[in-house]
Amino acid sequence: MSGTLAPDLIHRFTQLVGEKNAIQAEADLAPHLAENRGLYKGRSSLLLKPGSVDEVSAIMKLATETRTPIVPQTGNTGLVGGQTPRETGGDVIVSLERMNKIRDIDPVANVLIADGGAILADVQKAAEAQQRLFPLSLGSEGSCRIGGNLATNAGGTAVLAYGNMRQLCLGLEVVLPTGEIWNGLRRLKKDNTGYDLRDLFIGAEGTLGIITGAVLRLFPQPLGHQVAFAGLASVEDALALFELAARLCGTCLTGFELMPRFGVEITARNIEGVRDPLAGQHQWYTLIDISTSDSADSAERMMTSLLEQGFEAGLIEDAAIAASVQQQKALWHMRESMSDAQKPEGGSIKHDVSVPISKIPAFMHRADAAVLAAIPDARICAFGHMGDGNIHYNISQPIGADKAAFIGRWREINTIVHAIVLEYGGSISAEHGIGQLKRDELASIRSPIEIDLMRRIKTSFDPANIMNPGKVLAIS
Ligand code: FAD
Repeated sequence: MSGTLAPDLIHRFTQLVGEKNAIQAEADLAPHLAENRGLYKGRSSLLLKPGSVDEVSAIMKLATETRTPIVPQTGNTGLVGGQTPRETGGDVIVSLERMNKIRDIDPVANVLIADGGAILADVQKAAEAQQRLFPLSLGSEGSCRIGGNLATNAGGTAVLAYGNMRQLCLGLEVVLPTGEIWNGLRRLKKDNTGYDLRDLFIGAEGTLGIITGAVLRLFPQPLGHQVAFAGLASVEDALALFELAARLCGTCLTGFELMPRFGVEITARNIEGVRDPLAGQHQWYTLIDISTSDSADSAERMMTSLLEQGFEAGLIEDAAIAASVQQQKALWHMRESMSDAQKPEGGSIKHDVSVPISKIPAFMHRADAAVLAAIPDARICAFGHMGDGNIHYNISQPIGADKAAFIGRWREINTIVHAIVLEYGGSISAEHGIGQLKRDELASIRSPIEIDLMRRIKTSFDPANIMNPGKVLAIS
């Protein structure tokens, strides 16, 4: 169904969750109709907040019966418009914000069971209270929720050591478009019993079902933790320093982030409380994060040795080690605020790409040349999870340029950058997903057989195409 929702249909949905959990007032709906970057603004006259898996199931049964499109939304921090309703006005938003409990935690088995609407930061805290670590960490962790993290297969800052959300999940509970409930809340590391349904829902961006619960993996809390910030002359030196760090630290290397001078400058200028940690200026910076499980001393020794060898090899121009937990947080805050720091600089055109790590310098040089050929005074702010080969290749508008005209070139610049990414065997969406933003591009970068298999999976789970239609795949 498209177009606005009929009053009797709104009434039937409302009865399933109760008046106060069926949001219709324009002012209350407004924050759910737009996303963080202001790229998409949809329409909807109904947002449902179910309080239980059975209520989600009842919603989906009615949606199937009436062919009503459903858009799952949890934290609304997604960056590709997957959680934003379409402009038709006929989509019903289902938010799991009331289903936000930690159901169980087993520190011996190192697992935690959470509702799909549990806030990521709450999951981290619950693990910490049991001297355990849930390693997924994102700039949006105070508001994004586990269902959204799973649906986008979120990455973040510790993928290097612990993997992305797919690697951090053992089991799922999902409500299917028909309203059937699949209880796959298994706590097993080893389970080779047929097709892996869990992996289909992870990263599906709400197009196959609604994730209402998950079994998440925990890890021992590290005893040693060190964070350093190093200034470097080139991206080639950053790559060589990464190689050195990977060799010296092995699995203790938890994060290796890359930042350009321009990124550090605007973050210090535009984000309150952030200052440039080093006295001089450097072309590039890396944030190095090391965690050890045996002792605090071993992390310190490892970091000191890495920096000494980095200096001796001529890779590091200057460096500072955070002297307290507060300073460690301040360094990470700087890195995580880099995207927000671009906002006061005007429009920015963004890319979330990955290439094989060894190709990062070559990719950067070619992309810079191509972008500057198209927009000569563009200010490139390419930063990201270098250790994962994932670069947020962002471009701020030239000073004084017209913001709307600059943003109007989004697709053109994406096409230029993505072509180079693909030449290096990379991905046009490393961690944010496809959503609406890259939907049409997906069809051109995946082979016909892959697209066909994806469509067949989609239609077998959701023959009526009511699960987040118009996202990831174009199916009419
Ligand atoms: P939403 O935005 O609500 O939804 C995202 C997608 O998941 C949509 O397609 C939606 O339909 C679907 N969905 C939501 N809930 C469910 C559910 N229960 N069942 C099925 N489908 C569902 N991402 C990274 O990977 N790494 C980062 O480092 C990172 N940093 C970020 C920093 C900032 C400041 C911001 C704003 C975003 C960042 N993101 C990052 C993107 C975003 O936070 C992640 O995509 C996050 O995982 C989305 O979670 P959410 O709860 O906000 O989901």
